[in-house]
Amino acid sequence: MTHAWLFTGPPGSGRSVAARAFAAALLCQPGGTAPRNPPPGQPGGTTPRTPPPPRQDRGCGHCAACHQVLAGTHADLLLVQPEGLSYGVKQTRDLVLRAATAPVSGRWRVIIFEDADRATEQAANALLKAIEEPTPRTVWLLCAPSPDDMVPTIRSRCRLVTLRTPAADAIAATLARRDGIEPDRALQAARAAQGHIGRARRLATDPEAARRRADVLNVPASVDGVGSAVAAAARLIEAADAEAAAVTAALDEPEQEELRRALGEGSSGKGVAKAVRSALRPTGVLRELTDRQKSRATRLKRDSLDRALLDLAGFYRDVLTVQFGAPVELANADVEAAIRRIAGTTTPESTLRRMRAIMACRERLEANAHPLLAAEAMALALLAG
Ligand SMILES: [Zn+2]
Repeated sequence: MTHAWLFTGPPGSGRSVAARAFAAALLCQPGGTAPRNPPPGQPGGTTPRTPPPPRQDRGCGHCAACHQVLAGTHADLLLVQPEGLSYGVKQTRDLVLRAATAPVSGRWRVIIFEDADRATEQAANALLKAIEEPTPRTVWLLCAPSPDDMVPTIRSRCRLVTLRTPAADAIAATLARRDGIEPDRALQAARAAQGHIGRARRLATDPEAARRRADVLNVPASVDGVGSAVAAAARLIEAADAEAAAVTAALDEPEQEELRRALGEGSSGKGVAKAVRSALRPTGVLRELTDRQKSRATRLKRDSLDRALLDLAGFYRDVLTVQFGAPVELANADVEAAIRRIAGTTTPESTLRRMRAIMACRERLEANAHPLLAAEAMALALLAG
């Protein structure tokens, strides 16, 4: 049994879903809780040193263990995401300690480490130690966009599971079957999402998300002078912030409420008042939660702006497709008229320059540039062509 696996695939290809399915296969116990000791009749009567590897690549999907894994509540499953912009060394060390404890079910302790590429260098070192000297019953499932996103020392110790970007019609079929979305609408959303299942679903079901995408795709046609370029950059940032704010609010409120409940807010007594006061101190737990939520909000803003930039790059990819007469489907067939108009009045060279400007903007944002300034520089480059 390999103790470290690396699931790679572009965002939305279902890395963490695949990792969860694999965790379910490891922890699946059809027929209820498995006996701590082998059933009578088996030789030895002691627990085997290593449980047998799963016979299939997924759990049965029906037993209590499978349900708990898929819901993320199984006692032997640790599902971790970066607390803020990245995994810090403290978070990772705590995790390594928890990962080393014996599994409750007697089978495996499974850690799904999402966005493993967001580990800081120190955190990656802590992780490497854990993977180099694995505890017999611990299995690490790391998720990252590509193997190159991981340091070679970690990558070389992991068995790779590579996911492909699903085809648009496969995504559309899933949306139609699973979410009951009308097939034409599902296919249009799938093409627009360029392989990202979750995004396709949102585009097909959330009118606000569809409207924001339409705003982004309107940028190329609306940029006809310095003033409109600067305005378009501001609109991009505003739309990304609005989208992130919607997601952030949905995540923040239940967390704060849970913490307040844990602190006993609403009940009376001196002890409680003291606990709440200490939680509110600059080093208190409530303050800690607020800080963590702030850095998560920053990450969500960045992710949502990045998605907008990818939509914009997708538009110019379609322009280039038309300019070269390539026999492939347009990703943004719903704005085909605008794509053809721009394709007819510009050159492939300028389209490539524009795509490069968008990618340069993404890189600058990745390197912590000021979002509005980076977006303005990009909008001006789109104008210059
Ligand atoms: Zn099962």
